[in-house]
Amino acid sequence: MNILIATGNSGKLQEYQRMFAVLDAGLLSLTDLDLGDIELEETGKSFEENASLKANTFARLSNHCTVADDSGLMVDALDGAPGIYSARYGGGQLDSAGRRGKLLAALEGVDEEDRGARFVCVIAIADPRIQETILVRGECRGRIAFRDHDDGQGFGYDSVFIPDGYQLTFGQLRPELKDGLSHRARAAQKALPILHEICSRSL
Ligand code: IMP
Repeated sequence: MNILIATGNSGKLQEYQRMFAVLDAGLLSLTDLDLGDIELEETGKSFEENASLKANTFARLSNHCTVADDSGLMVDALDGAPGIYSARYGGGQLDSAGRRGKLLAALEGVDEEDRGARFVCVIAIADPRIQETILVRGECRGRIAFRDHDDGQGFGYDSVFIPDGYQLTFGQLRPELKDGLSHRARAAQKALPILHEICSRSL
């Protein structure tokens, strides 16, 4: 069987392609199915609502078992912002580097011990043959760096987030290391047995 990884974010797509390679299924992208141009408005009020919205919409459009995630960065000193608005932080005119700049500016003067943050990822699995949408959540705690360590690796806020237990940002860590400890990795570990089961039912 095939599983659609419904994300327009190439960074997320690459991570899922590595983490779900163990599945006995073909992994399709939105582009593979000519669905890459569809822009969904994320109208939900939580990671769970937005992830469900994406997975259900693309499962309906593709008729494939579909995995989608909604994820974001929650900064303690900013009362959990940007949270579900991480991709739109600062408005549509900013690119990823601009959003990281805005975040670092918002934390100007904040000491190391108060720079705590966590990445959150909720994966939704929607299968046209199953009524319910399955949700799993993963989180990864860390802190926000004092500057942007952007060297072209990673995506989004990777170059400003230092996971607990490390001195390097997600962007500086080898991708296999991020794959073992990130919020997405933790959610994917919970999603894998469910996807294995869905794959085995289709045999
Ligand atoms: P969404 O899930 O499409 O709403 O986008 C989530 C946004 O959160 C992304 O555009 C990134 O800016 C950020 N984000 C989520 N996960 C990660 C990650 O693993 N690394 C860096 N940024 C991330």
